[in-house]
Amino acid sequence: MLVLIVEDDDSIGAPLAKGLAREGFEVERLTRGEGVVRRLTDGASPPSVVLLDLGLPDVDGFEVCRRLRSESDVPIIVVTARSEEVDRVIGLELGADDYIVKPFGFRELLARIRAVTRRTAARAPDRLPIRVDALTVDPRTREVTVDERAVTLTPKEFDLLALLAEDPGAVFSRGQILESVWDPHWYGPTKTLDVHVASLRKKLGDPAWIETARGVGFRLRARQ
Ligand code: CA
Repeated sequence: MLVLIVEDDDSIGAPLAKGLAREGFEVERLTRGEGVVRRLTDGASPPSVVLLDLGLPDVDGFEVCRRLRSESDVPIIVVTARSEEVDRVIGLELGADDYIVKPFGFRELLARIRAVTRRTAARAPDRLPIRVDALTVDPRTREVTVDERAVTLTPKEFDLLALLAEDPGAVFSRGQILESVWDPHWYGPTKTLDVHVASLRKKLGDPAWIETARGVGFRLRARQ
């Protein structure tokens, strides 16, 4: 499993690379934001996870995250010294899969790497498309259409919709959704969930697709 570390601070990047190599990971390091997207699209063996420092010398880390996500589905763990909730929410909105605040323990990082890569691997490879009225969700190709119109979603928006589509009409609690789509330890800013629901409703073109079960959670509109 290849881990791509994007970190300009050698006192963090070097021991991290060494520790991960000791755990049996292949490791590659970049110290600048420019080049990260190029590395993901250059045809060389793709990393299984990207550890992305937000404070890079050339490009803002959020911008790197956004560009990376527009090109690739690779799991991204944002690494930063900034612990404000707003930064976390922005990072996750831009498509990061998880977030770790410096200084962090190596074991904690390992656990998070294993969690995000496990979730990616678990994305159902062989399930059939789900149709609910005019909406189609294909877990295999990760494509969504409404009235034959393709809808472009971020990976998290897709995971959220695919979860709700598993059982149209059934209410999924906020806890269930957070645990399944995000990480079990990710209960902090549940505002993230509302942000994703709002964005999904907008992209699907009709807020009625996703109903709010007040005080509980959300459900996809039942089949007519
Ligand atoms: Ca830095």
